Amino acid sequence: MNADSNTPLLAVNGVTLQYKTPRHLVTATYRVDFSVHQGDRYVILGPSGCGKSTLLKAVGGFMRPVEGDIRIRGRDIVAPGPDRMMVFQEFEQLMPWKTVFQNVLFPMKVTRKFGRAEAKERAEAAIAKVNLAQFRDVYPHMLSGGMKMRVAIARAMALEPDILLMDEPFAALDALTRRTMQQELLSLWEQLRFTVLFVTHSIEEAIIVGSRILVLSPHPGRVRAELDTGSLDYGNIDRPEFGAMSKRIHDLLFANERAKEATA
Ligand code: ADP
Ligand code: MG
Repeated sequence: MNADSNTPLLAVNGVTLQYKTPRHLVTATYRVDFSVHQGDRYVILGPSGCGKSTLLKAVGGFMRPVEGDIRIRGRDIVAPGPDRMMVFQEFEQLMPWKTVFQNVLFPMKVTRKFGRAEAKERAEAAIAKVNLAQFRDVYPHMLSGGMKMRVAIARAMALEPDILLMDEPFAALDALTRRTMQQELLSLWEQLRFTVLFVTHSIEEAIIVGSRILVLSPHPGRVRAELDTGSLDYGNIDRPEFGAMSKRIHDLLFANERAKEATA
């Protein structure tokens, strides 16, 4: 532990995000506050349209807040950078004509952050870290979904980002594959302890993947609560604690609707 271990890695302070279209001004999030610490599996949970993707875009540096600020290690985020790597859905991001090794090497070539030799070393190391050394010369179509995700993570991690950003990466998958992917992500996290900011609209996925959960209200997204999920994951999905957490989140998400019903 160092002296500034209490300083959050990522601090989002009173962030309002808007889209200006020719006809409308759309407020996507309103005065959102949260902070992410080193090693967190931080989940942003909320209904469709509440501004989750917009928040992630702002953390990525693709959009500036109209109010508030976003800081990484105390520095204001003004542009995209290799300190924040977006991990897209596996099928969107790996180039099918490149091997695992070439895929992992590619962003380092593009960013030119490292010399050729160092980039190659980093690619080898990242591939080994995600336990894919025997598959370095294989093409993506020969890999399982979970392995592709590991390649995607290796590709991001080779640049040594401070934080991985994942926007509903498993949303398009069938339930069983989704579960496998969640497990793969968790076991990789056990091994590497990266920091991840993960967006989902699934309560169950939030509890399984997250160590902390930020619950957002419907459009525009405001913070309803931040919850610590403790040790809840697959091992206790059938236990009452899991069900209780799930209900608590459900109640938070639907708080307004219930208040309206009560006063109707
Ligand atoms: P989520 O990811 O939680 O489903 P989004 O961040 O995608 O929500 O969207 C939040 C709000 O911003 C929605 O009302 C959406 O319609 C609006 N929005 C998203 N992208 C744009 C855009 N490019 N232009 C205008 N409005 C947008
Ligand atoms: Mg979204």
